[in-house]
Amino acid sequence: MNGGALKKANIALFVPLNGCPHRCSFCDQRIITGKAYQPTEEDVHNAVKTALSSSRRYNYEIAFFGGSFTAIDRNYMIKLLGAAYQYVKSGDVSGIRISTRPDAIDENVLDVLKSYGVTSIELGAQSMNDGVLEKNGRGHNAQAVVLASQMIKRRGFSLGLQMMTGLCGSNAALDEYTADKIIELSPDTVRIYPTVTLKGTRLEKLYESGEYNPMTLSESVNLCALLLDKFSKHNIEVIRLGLHYSEQLEKDIVYDNYHPAFRELCESKLMFDKFMEVCNKRDIDKSGNITVWVNPSCVSKFIGQKRANILKLEEMGYNVNVKSEQSVLPLEIKLSVES
Ligand code: SF4
Repeated sequence: MNGGALKKANIALFVPLNGCPHRCSFCDQRIITGKAYQPTEEDVHNAVKTALSSSRRYNYEIAFFGGSFTAIDRNYMIKLLGAAYQYVKSGDVSGIRISTRPDAIDENVLDVLKSYGVTSIELGAQSMNDGVLEKNGRGHNAQAVVLASQMIKRRGFSLGLQMMTGLCGSNAALDEYTADKIIELSPDTVRIYPTVTLKGTRLEKLYESGEYNPMTLSESVNLCALLLDKFSKHNIEVIRLGLHYSEQLEKDIVYDNYHPAFRELCESKLMFDKFMEVCNKRDIDKSGNITVWVNPSCVSKFIGQKRANILKLEEMGYNVNVKSEQSVLPLEIKLSVES
């Protein structure tokens, strides 16, 4: 039986494309999940048994990812849920998460999910701008995200919302707007995926024809650092920032704005911005000896990859010494200055 204090972990099963009538501009599920195989009940049992046989103990949830779970064949969906639910009832896992499209949610399907122990539902909102949704072939509008989110919350599920930045027809201002609209829906968690242009997708064609100008990596980092800060100010946990690395993904990238440690780049940028904000607010003298106190988990984030933040600060004339301090919250900073 899993205890409440254990670290959370997903036993993830991907249910790719099955049942999905759409072909969003950015999506090639075969690439994103690394496989096009449809899992069976047996696969659910095997995945749970493998996880439970590990010597490390976690607070497990079974996660059906893939983006269209409630749109797949209903009998197949129920078979997978039935296999998973056994482990919820036995207490071996604490719940079931699924990810799906906003327009594949209604009261009826929520009844089914509830009766099989589903605890969390993640919706692929992607954008809250109808023009962007249309341009990228999502097949639903922003209102569908609002209605599905409200229904999910009303029925007592944990709500997760996924958004994408840098889609075709979007820009930093529209992506910020999407984040603001998502905040209004009070999700429990958010995932942010900067758009990556992959071979075989419609985005590839739009990019090649010049109709789509992807965000550069640095534009994307600047924007996502800001979004990270926005969500954290509203106590909404960003549980994923950036696509998971896979060899296949790296091979299929058409425009190079992907970074495997994307989140760390954004967190470094955020800490740099916070440093500058404090310096400007307190009118700190650059020539003084500045000590920056950060949480022990964030020392390397403040320093930045290849010491990028420190080098930039030195270039700007700051003399900075970084120290770790447990009482400082992650991603926050405290400064002391000796003249
Ligand atoms: S709805 Fe989801 S699974 Fe279907 S094409 Fe779009 S992103 Fe891919």
